[in-house]
Amino acid sequence: MSFTLPTLQYDYKALEPYIDAQTMEIHHSKHHQAYTNNLNAAVDNTELAGKSIEEIFSNVSKLAPALRNNGGGFYNHNLYWDVMTPGGPAGPEGKLLESINGSFGSFDLFKEAFTKAAVTRFGSGWAWLVQKGDNLIVTSTPNQDNPLMDVTEIQGAPILTIDVWEHAYYLKYQNRRPEYIEAFFKVINWNEVAKRFKA
Ligand code: MN
Repeated sequence: MSFTLPTLQYDYKALEPYIDAQTMEIHHSKHHQAYTNNLNAAVDNTELAGKSIEEIFSNVSKLAPALRNNGGGFYNHNLYWDVMTPGGPAGPEGKLLESINGSFGSFDLFKEAFTKAAVTRFGSGWAWLVQKGDNLIVTSTPNQDNPLMDVTEIQGAPILTIDVWEHAYYLKYQNRRPEYIEAFFKVINWNEVAKRFKA
């Protein structure tokens, strides 16, 4: 088994009332577990065994769709859990905040761009804050694609993401995706985002 489901750094109920415990439990223990299992099934006993997930993404256009779908599902959820926390800092600080201000004009304009990307992603997918050289870019991807994949138009290093598949919010928010995105901003772990940002 090359890839393992990560243990969350907080309880399933820890992000309440913004993200409910039942959604968290099903999302982590069922959805993320399934992506992880299916990724391992696609990798084990092939020439991909032992390769990093980043190596797989860099060549994913030439691989079976199972690698794109389940590799993305494995990686994207790892980042999503990491960039959330109960009672995180109110917002980005220091070099990260300077870069957000430089790239978007202000934190509020960044939030507007990120929210728009997440709201308008048609169907299932993800919105991203990506670092590309000195710039930060907001983008979105369909399904389980991400900005590290060679199939993705806007590539870069992901530092923040939100899952906008219905399984991420439907139990609590039903069709009200914008409310879920607003709630997500209450639990962003800006310390973790800052760790991924290369000043
Ligand atoms: Mn998901």
